[in-house]
Amino acid sequence: MANKYEPTIGLEIHVELKTKTKMFCSCLNVPTAVGIPTEVGNPNVNICPVCTAQPGSMPVINEEAVHDVIKAGLALNCKIAEHTWFERKNYFYPDLPKGYQITQFEAPLCVEGKLDDIRIRRIHLEEDVGKSIHDKGDYSLVDYNRAGVPLMELVTEPDIHGAEQAKKFAQDLQLVFKYLGISDADMEKGQMRVEANISLNMGTKVEVKNLNSFRAVEKAIEFEIDRQQKAVENDEKIIHETRGWNDSKSETFSQRIKETSDDYRYFPEPDLPPLEIKKELVKKLQAEIPELPFARKERFIEEYKLSEQSADVLISFKYLADFFEQTVSELKGWLESGKIKTNIDRLIQLSANYIITEFPKFLPVAGEIKITAENFAELIYMTFIGDISSSGAQEALKEMFKTGGDPSQIIESKNLKQTSDTGELEKIVEIVIKNNPQPVEDYKKGKETALQFLIGLAMRESKGKANPNIVGEIIKKKLG
Ligand code: ADP
Ligand code: ZN
Ligand code: MG
Repeated sequence: MANKYEPTIGLEIHVELKTKTKMFCSCLNVPTAVGIPTEVGNPNVNICPVCTAQPGSMPVINEEAVHDVIKAGLALNCKIAEHTWFERKNYFYPDLPKGYQITQFEAPLCVEGKLDDIRIRRIHLEEDVGKSIHDKGDYSLVDYNRAGVPLMELVTEPDIHGAEQAKKFAQDLQLVFKYLGISDADMEKGQMRVEANISLNMGTKVEVKNLNSFRAVEKAIEFEIDRQQKAVENDEKIIHETRGWNDSKSETFSQRIKETSDDYRYFPEPDLPPLEIKKELVKKLQAEIPELPFARKERFIEEYKLSEQSADVLISFKYLADFFEQTVSELKGWLESGKIKTNIDRLIQLSANYIITEFPKFLPVAGEIKITAENFAELIYMTFIGDISSSGAQEALKEMFKTGGDPSQIIESKNLKQTSDTGELEKIVEIVIKNNPQPVEDYKKGKETALQFLIGLAMRESKGKANPNIVGEIIKKKLG
């Protein structure tokens, strides 16, 4: 074995589906947001007799949630069950008013999938529980807005061997769910929750819960691997336990020793019919699956000649990738109609570069994006042909994000147009040469960097409006 201590990791991931209504009733699926005090977040407004377990109430299966899980299974190369059912998992806790959770046990909807060479054992559908609040005084509160929200649980095989690989898997999984539109899977909002099982050399495994960010997933696994290694080296026994993650201290801590396995007394849910998943349904759902992030990445590299890194950034933010493709289609349209004549590949790459480096500076955290692909394409083209400098383009872009205005107007009103008028530029260069004998001397002696320096001076003289390429040519010509 290459490593004395081979870490083995398996993940269990819960994801809240963003269906319109809850899993077994018609309450709106709007759980109180994590981090918002319940007083503000209006607790117990999306509740009814079913999700608060009043006697005699009957659950009804949310078809949308079932379809979402099948789509997840198809996207992750799973086999889809033909015949399946729900089960009761019995335990007591105040956030679970029924005294049992409706889940799947024997027959999950999806099995035997794969993502990033990591095998997915199963994906099943269950319901989320309510939320207990313990920090208000010598009493506890409970909010049932989240009780009965459709929850998808995915379990991997123990195929992961490092903290970074685990984080990457979780991130890729999130991206798939976002592309499918079945969940935003925002970890900070509790929409995606990761538990990691970690062992060394397939020995006793330890479960770490409450991992609420990708960073926490990576840090907690790193910490656990290190802790277990030290324990083994000190001849200490690794205990089969559940540990929590303390984010501020960056360490795991013991929560619960698992001496016996929990007895949940599972049995088939008698109030719900079994599910028969028809082949036609699976076919229909398969047809609804959009191009997935990794296929899209390959296509971006192939079709648009983007670097792997650029493609990676774009596909990681679906709206950026979408905006990029809208821009490309504008540019292609202009090319076909003869409005522009140029090398389209270079325009496409310029677009990608601007989106990757400039957009994050201006994107609103929330709210709509005002800039249109048509206007952006125009700005790119003006930059490309030298009508505007890159600093001018950045300035115009800032305004376009604010107002949604079109670039030629903004460039006009802000006086950002780049000067390519050689007569005007010659005058500027003459001033620069006259006032800066030292760099001129250096350039004549063959110092190339002096040229850049002189171009910079000319740019300043022109208040940023000179076309640097033309300025460079003029300087070279004048200094021989
Ligand atoms: P249990 O029966 O204890 O719940 P399972 O075999 O059902 O264990 O697996 C639960 C999770 O633990 C899965 O994600 C699985 O990949 C992971 N797992 C199983 N064995 C190991 C191991 N030796 N080290 C780390 N993770 C493991
Ligand atoms: Zn309800
Ligand atoms: Mg579960």
